[in-house]
Amino acid sequence: MAKSKVYFIPVTETDNKEVIIKKLQRLIQESKLLDFVLPQEDIAIKLHFGEEGNTGFVKPEYIKVICDIILEKNAKPFLIDTNTLYKGRRTDSKEHLKLAEEHGFNKKEIGSEIIIPDDSLEENTIDIKINQRFVKTAYLVRAFIESDAIIGISHFKGHIMTGFGGALKNLGMGCATRKGKLFQHSDIAPIIYKQKCTGCGECIKICPQQVIYLKENKAVIDGKRCIGCASCIAVCAFSAIDVNWESGSSTLPEKMVEYVFALLKDKRDKTAFLNFAIKITKECDCIAKDDPRICADIGILASFDPVSIDKASYDLVVRQCGRDIFKEVHPKRDSHRQLNHAYKLGIGNLDYELISLS
Ligand code: SF4
Ligand code: SF4
Repeated sequence: MAKSKVYFIPVTETDNKEVIIKKLQRLIQESKLLDFVLPQEDIAIKLHFGEEGNTGFVKPEYIKVICDIILEKNAKPFLIDTNTLYKGRRTDSKEHLKLAEEHGFNKKEIGSEIIIPDDSLEENTIDIKINQRFVKTAYLVRAFIESDAIIGISHFKGHIMTGFGGALKNLGMGCATRKGKLFQHSDIAPIIYKQKCTGCGECIKICPQQVIYLKENKAVIDGKRCIGCASCIAVCAFSAIDVNWESGSSTLPEKMVEYVFALLKDKRDKTAFLNFAIKITKECDCIAKDDPRICADIGILASFDPVSIDKASYDLVVRQCGRDIFKEVHPKRDSHRQLNHAYKLGIGNLDYELISLS
């Protein structure tokens, strides 16, 4: 396989915003990243609006640059993310949209629709059969599959479960329904923290399989019949139900990239990626706090190849820090597993040519 091209422009957060915007415009122009966009096409811009209190997410003024270029082509961009598995402000669509607005993502400023599909409605989900090693059927949010193209915009940073998070993580986990996310995170049903359970019974009412019951006024899940839809996690107001995070971590990177495979299999020429290696933090943007930097700012990368852009971002971080900082902050995680499995699946290339702009 020939090397994939990855374009790179150095940027630091201390640069003037106007300077960063000009650099981003130049990066997109030189890489021809959005040249494939055609008039009237629906372009899904997948991003992360940031959990409440988080400051690492890619800022709306940079997303506007991308939307403006797409709008000039008479295409129809829309910003999109999916609801989270964990309990927070991004667990349900209404609150998630409100938080996005609070973080500066609104149609008036950006000129594009912002959608957060409610994946508890069947019409918003789609099952894609792929018959791969870990994922036989991927449970995805329909809007991605029905769009004409996907632009993945990622904040490049560390991640508690996968070592780092970039383009592959943004798409693989970020385009999955809650059921898909639970499958990736866990091999078994959610767990119940008895000390937090009040016995309110809300989870029992919502469970589509009717596999939750009360025993001594505490909820209990019959795991054998659970289909992993994660509805109970979302509904519990006391955070008494959670993903069994460790149970599936052994295969999470592989499952995650098999979801990328499902998402992109019919869109190979209609995807593009931008990684913002700015404010590189230990944890992802789901963390509800101002996570400090673990590495000095690097810049923005652009590529059509999600594997190459993540590998190049990773290598730049290691070079900048003079050591593998992701391994240092997440010693139990092997960051290379997601890259290697994605390469094996033919999603992209580990060899890349870095084209540096100044
Ligand atoms: S919704 Fe939460 S608090 Fe209520 S019964 Fe279920 S687990 Fe317990
Ligand atoms: S994950 Fe879905 S099926 Fe399983 S116990 Fe919770 S609500 Fe029921």
